Amino acid sequence: MIQKKIYVSRPSLPPIEEYMDEIRDVWETGIMTHQGPKHVELQEKLQSFLGAPNITLFGNGHLALELGIKSMHLSGEAITTPFTFGSTTQAILRNDIRPVYCDVRSDDYTMDADKIEDLITDKTSVIVPVNVYGNICDIDRIEKIAKKHGLKVIYDSAHAFGETYRGRNASTFGDASMFSFHATKVFNTVEGGCLTYHDASLTQYLEGLRQFGQIVKTDVTPYIGTNAKMTDIHAAMGLCNLRHFEESIAKRKVVASIYRSRLSNVKGLKLSVVQEGVESNYAYFPLVIEEADTGINREQVIKALADENIFVRKYFYPLCSDFEVVKNLGIRSDVPVARYISDRVITLPCYSDLLPEDAERVCDIILDLYR
Ligand SMILES: *Cc1c(COP(=O)(O)O)cnc(C)c1O
Repeated sequence: MIQKKIYVSRPSLPPIEEYMDEIRDVWETGIMTHQGPKHVELQEKLQSFLGAPNITLFGNGHLALELGIKSMHLSGEAITTPFTFGSTTQAILRNDIRPVYCDVRSDDYTMDADKIEDLITDKTSVIVPVNVYGNICDIDRIEKIAKKHGLKVIYDSAHAFGETYRGRNASTFGDASMFSFHATKVFNTVEGGCLTYHDASLTQYLEGLRQFGQIVKTDVTPYIGTNAKMTDIHAAMGLCNLRHFEESIAKRKVVASIYRSRLSNVKGLKLSVVQEGVESNYAYFPLVIEEADTGINREQVIKALADENIFVRKYFYPLCSDFEVVKNLGIRSDVPVARYISDRVITLPCYSDLLPEDAERVCDIILDLYR
């Protein structure tokens, strides 16, 4: 029997009729972009859903992060993590800031707060931690260190949409937090993203950076900006997907619970820790393949799954600190834990429409190797 192909992720899509209904208004008004009614409505709904102090929407998460860093007039060095998608490092580099890589913790793969202070120099201006896989960083420690040294903190929360830590939404962490609404993320607008932030006076500048450096709805252009607007067509997708968000997380939770119950306590397989106080969005399910105990390595697991039409990814390999562009800048780093994880990790298929029986099948195939 030919099995259907299963990939690591598949976008959450609303019923097509619901989307048609939503964009019908756009056809009627003819307002497709430039903060039209759908954009305004999504911004309001997200602000209240996330409990965000302030929010600005962007055409994608990367530009939300890049322009968020720019809006704070930072320079010199940024302490960040190598264990993330390339966007984090690129957003720093595109602001002419030098990334300084801090190692990660071995249980949740977020920035190891114990190692931050050793990396601070007189050039450090900002810490850019990542809530990787939806695992929440040690936000209290990071905040303390930042306060002590007068640094800004901007979170890459691309994976952390909708999550809370001890009742605090990720949208309130640090000075600012970026969320990605890319098709593969837990909440999507096809492409899109936002920045949430505490300083309300940043709004006008961020909106200007997003729209050719103008103060919007005026003839005044005081900034050097770019074009990073979210369209109303994309915002309409967000309005639909937001209605189904809770239901979609509940379905991801079922998948994650199957993986966790069946793959825990298997010698050679290391699962990410369940973080106390975190209400998870089950964005990703990473699995670290520890060959030393069993002789079974990552490539063998990937192949066994691929033979059954299941295609997992090595998120995140290689480390950002190993990018040619970073090495060519002469940036050196000492990140043994991140390297250990990156050399061994895969992420299993995890999305809201993944059937529980398919998650079971993924486990069957992996466990067969270990028998
Ligand atoms: C997806 C992602 C981004 C970039 O978001 P886009 O919306 O695709 O631009 C940044 N950082 C991380 C960790 C991501 O996973």
